[in-house]
Amino acid sequence: MKKLFTASQLEIGYRSRNGVKKAVGPVDFQIEEGECVGLIGESGAGKSTLALEILGLLGWKSGARIAGRLDLFINRDEIAYIPQDPHAALDPLCSIGAHLREVAKDRSLIEKALEQVRLPLDKISLNSYPHELSGGMKQRVLIAMALLRQPKLIVADEPTSSLDVTLQADIMDLFRQIRGTGMAFLFVTHQMPLTRDFCQRVVIMRAGIIVEQGRLPDLFLNPGNPYTRMLIDSVPRLCLS
Ligand code: ADP
Ligand code: MG
Repeated sequence: MKKLFTASQLEIGYRSRNGVKKAVGPVDFQIEEGECVGLIGESGAGKSTLALEILGLLGWKSGARIAGRLDLFINRDEIAYIPQDPHAALDPLCSIGAHLREVAKDRSLIEKALEQVRLPLDKISLNSYPHELSGGMKQRVLIAMALLRQPKLIVADEPTSSLDVTLQADIMDLFRQIRGTGMAFLFVTHQMPLTRDFCQRVVIMRAGIIVEQGRLPDLFLNPGNPYTRMLIDSVPRLCLS
């Protein structure tokens, strides 16, 4: 399988008053064509920092200081980004149509992308504004914008964490459908169960370091690292007796 990128001994820190504070690394990490990888870890583990570097969004001005290598074997514009908070990600002064046209001018492509995210034009007007949409609809618009790029890799950073559980299930269902079209996913989450029937492989991060990675379901059945075991044990179970 063709690799999409390889990170080798990649280290990322942020400039602070006391020098550079390490956020990630050193890590070795890669994703292959069509592969769906979960990046799991608690808040502050460095997941978003690693995702932003893969997206090319950590410029010098961000305060990030980077060492090691990140080799991309695709173009950056073949990577799409689905951010965490759909409420903050859309410009409140721009119509939904204007957002979509930023990515693709062709009306039929826009209609097709909206249909893919189950928002056909009888459900949403291109003249509507973000405040007129529910959180789930906004997230679907962001997913449609990502699909319009016809990406080889989608980086989704906690894409469901600002949605309630029924909408979460709905969006995960949509991701499963998109995954079937052959795109690779880097699915960043602190919610381990979401990766279970979505990702082929998971990478567990703690305090900037990859503590364990492996294929599913094997890694969840036989975790080698105590931290992975702790994450698995902390998943709440429903008691219905
Ligand atoms: P996660 O996504 O796993 O919650 P982050 O990558 O956001 O983790 O953060 C990793 C570490 O880097 C944290 O200690 C966080 O405070 C720090 N950090 C993240 N973004 C910045 C930034 N822009 N400037 C300085 N420190 C940051
Ligand atoms: Mg994050």
